[in-house]
Amino acid sequence: MKILIYFLLSLCLMSEVAFAVKAKTTTKEAPKKNTPFDVYELKGEQDGSTLLVIGGIHGDEPGGFFAPALLMDLYKVKKGKVIVIPNLNPDSILAFRRGIYKDMNRKFASIKRNDPDFDNVQAIKKIITSEEIDFIINLHDGHGFYREKWENSIFNPKAWGQTYVIDQKTLDNVPFGDLDSIAKQIESKLNQSLHYDFHTFGVRNTETRIKDEEQQNSLTFFAITHLKPALAIETSKNITELPLKTFYQISSIEALMEILGIEFERKFELNLENVAKKINDFGTLVINDNITLELSDIRNIINFTPLLAQKNHFEFTHPLGRTKRTKEGYEVYIGHKRITLLRPDIFPMQCDVKALEIELDGKASQAKFGETLDFQQNFLVKKLDGVRINVIGYSKKGIVSEHDILINKANIDGRYSLDKAKSIFRVEAYQGRNFCGMVNLRATK
Ligand SMILES: [Zn+2]
Repeated sequence: MKILIYFLLSLCLMSEVAFAVKAKTTTKEAPKKNTPFDVYELKGEQDGSTLLVIGGIHGDEPGGFFAPALLMDLYKVKKGKVIVIPNLNPDSILAFRRGIYKDMNRKFASIKRNDPDFDNVQAIKKIITSEEIDFIINLHDGHGFYREKWENSIFNPKAWGQTYVIDQKTLDNVPFGDLDSIAKQIESKLNQSLHYDFHTFGVRNTETRIKDEEQQNSLTFFAITHLKPALAIETSKNITELPLKTFYQISSIEALMEILGIEFERKFELNLENVAKKINDFGTLVINDNITLELSDIRNIINFTPLLAQKNHFEFTHPLGRTKRTKEGYEVYIGHKRITLLRPDIFPMQCDVKALEIELDGKASQAKFGETLDFQQNFLVKKLDGVRINVIGYSKKGIVSEHDILINKANIDGRYSLDKAKSIFRVEAYQGRNFCGMVNLRATK
């Protein structure tokens, strides 16, 4: 079961109110604030340990945020609980930078109230220290490949890549406090299923309390000083294939769940090929409840996207989906990947029509706005009083509304499809000045 918890909402509302009051007396710009992160729960029917998985603290480490996104989408927990945060630092993920408000992982010992990361850091601290949490992992991609002895600038003891990082060997008298032994169990399991021998994982103990002052500002050190066992999983930035990094991350999380006694089922077979497929599945974007875009094969630019002048509502199925307003329109992102640009065509949407009747290859169907329907040869949109139909990529001289016309797929210009494969076409309905909605028709073979 997935539950999206809007626990940050009250915090945000409070600060907005505070700002509104302040705005009367000052002309200063609104203080910068990171976007709130999302929290999902995978809860088993049987009670057991609770694991907190944190991804995306560093925005340029995609192994660290695609792994939790896949985890929450493709796993069912049967015993115990997994709390998944795929995007702790949303604005940095969008910018594909380590930290656009500086390094968030150096803000856990102290942070100023006006720091843009303040709300997110406070909120994650609250979750980390909550009673139910038994173990915490913080996911990264680090430089190089860790080796106990110096080999060269890439393979050496200072590298972070392919490591399980612990701050100290044990956390005494705490369940699962034997960090060194847990990390070594994961390490030995992972090292049996490497895709290349040189991807060997190691355990790196930073001995934070006595040796590493900088690391004392980190999330994991905050956790262990609050008696919560924690470790960081680092795949390597030098592994450029995102599916492979994500595969290693997910395999490590599975190994840890087994140690913690968390029982789970997967909705797929865990191998590199399937992980690659899932990473390239961007899901759908529903806009204003009247347009649905399938994102996996969408064109780089969608022209004349019917949108409201403001307050457009975007809903992604992918946990890393986001839009970014630019001069040209709305850029659509999955994680750090820019998927498409929606160039807006602005309309009011006061419309009382919710569906169209369409004959697909001669067979009548009801098509709600936002639905995708298949046809093989041709389609015909039935007349609705007062509604203008526009089939994008089709035109016939002198016709204002393209209803009651049998349209063959060969009559539509493929350049106007939504997808790169030139198979999905837009049927749009208008009432007066208002845009009512879009139905997608997919030509199949
Ligand atoms: Zn990192």
